[in-house]
Amino acid sequence: MAENMKHEEQCRIFNRPSILKRMRDLVKSEIKTGEEHGFLVCKRGEDYRLTEPCKGTECEIELGHCRDDEEQVGTFHTHGLFSFPSCSDIVTAFERGTRVNCIGALTCWWLGYPAVMIKCMSIDVDHPEYDKFRDRILKLDEIYGPILSKWDEESERLSDEEEKKLYDKVIEAHIKFNKVLDEAEKAGVVDRAALLDIKDLEYDETE
Ligand SMILES: [Zn+2]
Repeated sequence: MAENMKHEEQCRIFNRPSILKRMRDLVKSEIKTGEEHGFLVCKRGEDYRLTEPCKGTECEIELGHCRDDEEQVGTFHTHGLFSFPSCSDIVTAFERGTRVNCIGALTCWWLGYPAVMIKCMSIDVDHPEYDKFRDRILKLDEIYGPILSKWDEESERLSDEEEKKLYDKVIEAHIKFNKVLDEAEKAGVVDRAALLDIKDLEYDETE
């Protein structure tokens, strides 16, 4: 299908040995330090440039911006043991119109053979229906953004009852965001299945 080809083509910017190695190293680095790591892929003409890896606190990371004359075509950041984008990752991706958003995490650790997994969400920003889904994501952010921030920043200070109430709202947010992504995926605007091969990305604890 033509749409799938588009996603495959977009994801190719990450599928290079040097970039895969860099992503793998950052996942390992996060496991050691507990801090998120990431970088951007910026495009100018036919040239691609990776920004210097930056570190963030546990759950949030500011990846910076590409230069004014560049397009931000890709992002990568680490997520510890979970490879799903957070609601704010989804919002940032649509806000900036980033084509490929990759997350690196350690997987299969529960089976005793940890491996690095890189999972990418591709967004076809040229798709005729892109703007429609972008609007929906940004509207959801208006409603749920403050709730999600409150959860990140204040949940530990709340009473059990308040925490439970807020948690229900956070779950509701995740369901709503993912519902929009499901529809965007059906329309061919989004592809969340873009998974870079983990076979050659084995995690070696002795390194
Ligand atoms: Zn994230």
